[in-house]
Amino acid sequence: MVTKGNLSAVLRKVDDLSLEERPIPQPGKGEVQIQMHAVGICGSDVHYWKKGRIGDFILTAPMVLGHESSGVVSAVGEGVTHLKVGDRVAIEPGAGCRQCSFCKEGRYNLCPDMKFAATPPIDGSLCRYYVHAADFCFKLPDHVSFEEGALLEPLSVAVHACRRAGISIGSNVLVCGAGPIGLVNLMTAKACGASKVAITDIDEGRLNKAKELGADYIFKIDPSKDSRDIAKEIENSLGAADQTIECTGAESSFHTAIYATKSGGTLVVVGMGKPVVQFPIVDALVREVDIRGIFRYTNCYPAALALVASGKVDAKPLITHHFKLEQSLDAFETSRTGAGGAIKVMIHCNEGYQI
Ligand code: NAD
Ligand code: ZN
Repeated sequence: MVTKGNLSAVLRKVDDLSLEERPIPQPGKGEVQIQMHAVGICGSDVHYWKKGRIGDFILTAPMVLGHESSGVVSAVGEGVTHLKVGDRVAIEPGAGCRQCSFCKEGRYNLCPDMKFAATPPIDGSLCRYYVHAADFCFKLPDHVSFEEGALLEPLSVAVHACRRAGISIGSNVLVCGAGPIGLVNLMTAKACGASKVAITDIDEGRLNKAKELGADYIFKIDPSKDSRDIAKEIENSLGAADQTIECTGAESSFHTAIYATKSGGTLVVVGMGKPVVQFPIVDALVREVDIRGIFRYTNCYPAALALVASGKVDAKPLITHHFKLEQSLDAFETSRTGAGGAIKVMIHCNEGYQI
């Protein structure tokens, strides 16, 4: 019987993130209790902290943050057979209802009853002990670290985006934006067999990281320049992009993404910016550029884990900072400001962790 409390990073309201002792949750049927280890901070965690909402998801009651996570199974609920106490697992943060047509078709990310960690009103996993559906926990091989386990979350976004883009052997790919999501897309596109990947950003430091991670071409963007000219410049090096993955959410970048995609190519929109934007629809339609959205991922954790476990993707260089659970506020501030070249900030929830 665990007697310690469950220290948790709770967002009470906008700009009010603090640590609080909560009861240790017990696993129900089909669930496991997890002693949390690594939790990465995502842009959406920071957004809820500073704005209290993303689209129609609005914080109306205190909520634990965090959804990019991993830990050790510390108790198993009734009926769980594929996991046991002591197993190290990565946690896929959202489970659908398992009943609706989307769930049955395997597109559970579209389930209207999806319960996703740290999306209001569902508590996240930035705490000492967390309970989750066992079938959304993936056992980590010994050589895959807890940090890498946490990174399977953004990596799954990239797996889904690259799948929806149809990236394959020999593809010429443009990734717009070299934040954590752009960078995992760069690495995943390469792992899918893309022969050349170009990446854009307005930040030199992030572009340098992209170069380190294998980008063939980097483009420092001046967003005040004409998007067609930027697209031309990209095309002069990369050639026309077979697939483009937009990971900035900036309207001007969306324009560049359309112009830079080859006729008959595919643009996958990952970046979430303004809910309504203008875009060059005639250019897209007369050239049959397919524009596809993605929302998180579905059935991508196994592939993301395989990419990491096989060494095809080394996501570790994305991690720039480490904090303890007790230092969550500092960790969030570092992620928000990007201080010290912050890309992926990792919080360690186990009590014994030494920085
Ligand atoms: P981020 O803010 O860290 O990265 C965005 C990057 O874009 C930054 O490096 C920024 O400098 C760069 N940028 C801004 N304007 C630009 C421009 N005009 N041209 C080129 N680069 C520009 O965010 P992130 O965590 O990497 O996430 C990227 C986007 O993906 C966000 O909008 C996020 O909301 C979205 N997202 C969507 C999903 C989904 O399911 N669709 C999932 C995760 C993240
Ligand atoms: Zn469903």
